[in-house]
Amino acid sequence: MPKCVILTAPRTVKVVERKPLIPEPREAIIAVETAGICGTDLAIFSGDYPRPLPMVLGHEFIGRVTSVGEGADESWVGRRVAAEINNTCVAHKRHVLCHACSRGTPNHCQTRTVTGIVARDGAFAEEVAVAEGTLHEIPEDLDPFAATLIEPLAAALQTFVMTPATGKETVAVLGPGRLGILVVFVAALKGLRVVAVSRSEDKRRRALKYGAQEAFAPEEAREKILELTRGWGADIVVDSTGRPEGITEAISLVSPQGVVAMKTTCGLPLKELDTTQLAIDEIRLQGSRCGPFPQALEILAAHQDRLKYLVSSMRPLEKAQDALESAFSEHKVVFRASD
Ligand SMILES: [Zn+2]
Ligand SMILES: [Zn+2]
Repeated sequence: MPKCVILTAPRTVKVVERKPLIPEPREAIIAVETAGICGTDLAIFSGDYPRPLPMVLGHEFIGRVTSVGEGADESWVGRRVAAEINNTCVAHKRHVLCHACSRGTPNHCQTRTVTGIVARDGAFAEEVAVAEGTLHEIPEDLDPFAATLIEPLAAALQTFVMTPATGKETVAVLGPGRLGILVVFVAALKGLRVVAVSRSEDKRRRALKYGAQEAFAPEEAREKILELTRGWGADIVVDSTGRPEGITEAISLVSPQGVVAMKTTCGLPLKELDTTQLAIDEIRLQGSRCGPFPQALEILAAHQDRLKYLVSSMRPLEKAQDALESAFSEHKVVFRASD
């Protein structure tokens, strides 16, 4: 019987055997190869982002299709894939689409399930079921650890889909952690001037290795960024701190008419926000979530030899409790579900 990791209560997981999954119509079953732990998983695991339990977490993964349901393309079977997280009307090839899907924004599908997050068990398991339309084939020779980063890398790219940059902007990334370091990397690929802000010296050093031109501690960030930008501030400030207060820090660094790009999904509310400055300085708050897999895949293929080192450790599913606990302090923990 295939194993899965069930979150039964906050901070408590159990590894259990489950009946083999049978594919629903226009869905595929994937034998999971690797699955990464991200901030969203930790927010649900800790209880900060409450979800109905029990559930199986895990939405960043790769694997191999083992079977498909009625109406799905049989040729997926045997292929190595990654999957987008939103199981939408479009991904299920439904005849009648919801409003979001029919207007061309399926990631906001009103009837979606989200793998490992909303109403669908995830990939901290030997098997996971997803809608066929979420699948993307990935090359056999793509490094498995680099490949596991496809979903967060796509999410990092989405920052600049929602806030297009011309190449002249200064981008400050607050919290260059699991997701933030990928934002640093893609912003640098776009030729932007990237400044990383972190309390951790390790994270500052790593940000410099992955494309940041400068890296500052939070106490000195405002002064240094003003110095670099003739007193103007950063055009785009990305909050990937994983803390609700990150947004307040971001607002203190952004230029007039600039954008605060919100990437934190910690599940906790911000207690206070002074909105006056936002109005006076004409600042835009821009959330962003899931992004383009094909573009992420191109970047992974070109830079896998560097990106794979962002994975800090690999654990078997049996060690799930330990893996999740240590993911709070480690950079990027990945489960290896099978070979
Ligand atoms: Zn994630
Ligand atoms: Zn829909």
